[in-house]
Order: sequence, then C-alpha cells, then structure tokens
Amino acid sequence: MNLIEHYIDGKSFSGSSEKKGKIFNPATGKQESEVKLGSKVDLDLAVEKAKKAFDSWSNVTPLQRARVIFKFKDLIEKNSDELTKLIVKEHGKVYEDAKGSLIRGLEVVEFACGIPQMLKGEFTENVGTNIDSWSTRQPLGVCAGITPFNFPAMVPMWMFPMAIACGNTFVLKPSEKDPSCVMKLANLFKEAGLPDGVFNIVNGDKEVVDAILENKDISAVSFVGSTPIAKYIYENAAKNEKRVQALGGAKNHCVVMPDCDLDQAVNGLMGAAYGSAGERCMAQSVAVAVGNIGDELVNQISKKVEALKVGPGMDKTSEMGPLVTKEHLERVKGYVDLGVKEGAKLVVDGREIKLQGYENGYYIGGCLFDHVKKDMRIYKEEIFGPVLSVVRVKNFDEALQLINDHEFGNGTSIYTRDGDAGRTFANKIKVGMVGINIPIPVPVAYHSFGGWKRSLFGDQHMHGPEGVRFYTKLKTITSRWPSGLRSNPEFVMPVMK
Ligand code: NAD
Repeated sequence: MNLIEHYIDGKSFSGSSEKKGKIFNPATGKQESEVKLGSKVDLDLAVEKAKKAFDSWSNVTPLQRARVIFKFKDLIEKNSDELTKLIVKEHGKVYEDAKGSLIRGLEVVEFACGIPQMLKGEFTENVGTNIDSWSTRQPLGVCAGITPFNFPAMVPMWMFPMAIACGNTFVLKPSEKDPSCVMKLANLFKEAGLPDGVFNIVNGDKEVVDAILENKDISAVSFVGSTPIAKYIYENAAKNEKRVQALGGAKNHCVVMPDCDLDQAVNGLMGAAYGSAGERCMAQSVAVAVGNIGDELVNQISKKVEALKVGPGMDKTSEMGPLVTKEHLERVKGYVDLGVKEGAKLVVDGREIKLQGYENGYYIGGCLFDHVKKDMRIYKEEIFGPVLSVVRVKNFDEALQLINDHEFGNGTSIYTRDGDAGRTFANKIKVGMVGINIPIPVPVAYHSFGGWKRSLFGDQHMHGPEGVRFYTKLKTITSRWPSGLRSNPEFVMPVMK
C-alpha cells in the first residue's frame, strides 16, 4: 500500500501520529494509498521550520525568488503528464480536464514569475519641503493554506506560489482525499532550488486545521472549501489575530434569455454543469430559463445529457468521470431522490448507471431537473454533482432577483444577444465573477478569483493583484535628511508646507 507522509523542511516526514486516512481510486473503488493524518505536534514543527526559513527567504531579492519560481514553472511543464495522472487517480476527473486544471494553476506560477514588478511600491518626492515618502509591501511571515478535494493542484497553486514569491514561507494542509499531486509539486519546487522549510505540507483533517488556527506564528490563513467550514475558519483565524481569506461554496446560475444563441447556451451549459461531474465551485448548477425559452432549452439539453459518455478518467473517450468518494456519490444520489420528493420533474435520471468492468467505481450519470422552485432544497443547497436544475421565470428582472436573493454569489452567466441585458446584468448582479455568453467565467491568473455573499468571507480575492495584497503588508516611510536647517520642537499636528 502506497503511504503518503508529510513534507517538512524539504523532506518526507512520517510525523508523530499513527492516524491514517484511506485514499481510493474513484474509477475502480479500490483503495490505492494511505495518508498520514498529522497532529498538532506535526503542524507546530512545520511552522517552526517555516518560521526559521522566513528569515533568509524574505531577504532573498525578489528577482532571485522569481528565478526559482521560473524553474518551478519549467519543471511543472516537464512533469505535467505525471502530475495530471495523479489528479485523475485520486480525484477521478477526466484526463484532459485534470490537465486543464493543472495549467490554470501553472498560470498563477507564471504570474508569480513577474513578482518584482508587483512589489515595486510607490514613491513621492517632496511630500513636504525636502521630505520624501514611499510605500512598500513586505511579506507577512508564515502563511497557511487549507484546500478542498476538487482541485488538488490548482487551488493550492492559487496560494503557495503567490505567497512564496512575495517572500513568505508556507504550510499547506491539502484535502486528505487527494494529496499526491501537491506532494509531487513540493518535490519539484525543491528541485527548482527552493530552500528547505519555505514550503511544507502537513496532511491531515480537522486536528491539523485547528492547530493552524491556533498557532501564534502563522500570520495569514487562506482557505477554500465548503461554506460552513469557511465560516469556521474565518471566525477562528480572525479571533486568533490572523489575516484570513475563506472561500466557500456556490450555487451558480446561468440565465438563458429568449434572444440568445441557443446552441451556444446549451453547449456552454453542458460543459459548465457536467464537466468534472459538477464538482467545481464554478459549475453552473441552475439554468434560469427566461420567458418562452424553457421547453426548447430542456428539450435540447436533455438529449445531450442522455448522450453523455460517463467513464473512467483515463479513458480518452470519457466526457465525465466518477465522483470523488462513495460517500459523496450517496450524498448526490440523495439529493436526486429529494428533488423527486420535492416535486421537481426529473427529466434525465442518471442514478442507475452501471459500467462494465467498473462496477465498484463511484459513477452517476448526468441528471436534469425541470420546474425547480426556489423554495426547494435542491435549489437552495449546493449538490456538487452532475445535477442541473432548470428554473423558469417570466422575465429578466425576475431572473436578476432570483440570483441576488440566493445565499451564494460565486459565479454566474447570461446568454443573450442584447447588449443592454448583458450590461445591466453585469452591473446589477450581486456575484463576484460574471460571464456574458461565457459559461465558466473563471478569471485568469493576472486578475483575481473570488465570490460574494456566503461564497467568500474576507476582503481579498485569490491570486493576481489581490493575492499580492493579501500576502504582503503595507509600510509607508516618510524621510528627511539633515540639511543644516534645524527645526524647533512642534506641538501641533504637522501639516506639509
Ligand atoms: P470541505 O469544506 O469539506 O473541506 C475543505 C478543507 O477543509 C479540507 O482540507 C478539509 O480537510 C477541511 N475540513 C473539512 N471539515 C473540516 C472541519 N470540520 N473542520 C476543519 N477543517 C475541515 O470541502 P471539500 O468537500 O473538500 O470541497 C468542496 C467544497 O469546496 C464545495 O463546497 C465547493 O464549492 C468548495 N470550493 C469552493 C471554491 C471557491 O473558490 N469558492 C473552490 C473550490 C471548491
């Protein structure tokens, strides 16, 4: 049995605890690895090493740091096939999708290569007579990240390359369901020249998370996961005086206007609702059919959902892989049962799918509900599986209101040919990431990623300029050099002359 340990101070570390988690291959249902579940002692050791490494790493010039990041980028590219296969093996998503997610993470590494430009600060000559003032951004110290199962490489890469490029050191607690890819990334980072102790991984569950929240030497916590845990992280990290950004769950709506290019909308929705088996925080799980478009939309989507090719992620013909665990499969099936009980019309039922040779894998076919109402739990709650709900509304205003009333505000899209509808939607919608005729509006690495409402607790989004702000603190210096002129003591608030 493959054993995954921790990664502390540049080497594999078995830790103080004998607790282990099981890791299954979702395509077969077979257990392939065990992962050590760390303790407070392990976490505190990782932080101690990271704190020691901070002294020298924060003094390395931004350009030298960027050169290490650049070599890391090169190594990720060279090892992309192996990294992708690790994602497929533990998460289940199909190979090309897994590769795409790795590349979206790689783009953050590319952005981090330009960090000297982002850290330049601002300077004003003569804010007062012979007085200059400048602002600079300095690293925080030891930063920590806690990440979800659904993007085992990309989401950690939203965090640690940015933090480390800014001069911080980092301790990551990845999802205990699929940690292998990021363990490999840690080894590649070392090979790229990263000094020991700058990047550490402590595998584990709530025990390690709580140790992160309590450790006084951690300055900032980045979290991505479900909303209840995001709120817990936000409250407890803040209580312990840490900077925190905590990204939570989602229920993303795609508005389909009667004037849209329906082919484009249907294809966009198919990828956005069923890609990665719906296990994406930017998945479109609600289609809002406006006016008279509902019947044709459901008619066209249902044919495509029925034709979806479900299979193991390594099979090049599969369009959708299995769900991550047996428990998650049961949970998603439970929601489909619930939708039927709540009175929604189940147009396509994927619950009974069976794949020859993969009978123990965690598969479910695409499911499609029509006539979903806003008081149903299948509408209100995040299902995180390949289940699309169609809600019918009379007009654009009703669609806008529906989305703005929802507790989540991660991503949303509108399909329309009407520029006025598109612009009003972008302007009035209370959601962090908006697409106009774009199904999954995930910002590129040099913009920043984050939702509104209960999809993000904290002020700063991830990566891009907001990431730099999150992982640095501002210092403003005002200086005057002796010039022979002596001033007398001043007892009033100085004003610049
Ligand atoms: P999760 O909240 O169960 O787990 C996330 C992390 O928190 C994991 O590392 C896990 O070990 C830890 N954790 C779990 N329970 C905990 C507890 N009781 N106390 C302390 N720590 C705990 O999320 P998940 O199932 O791994 O991922 C899916 C969720 O993540 C979905 O809700 C999805 O929308 C969300 N997500 C959000 C974004 C975003 O950008 N907003 C991106 C990806 C995923």
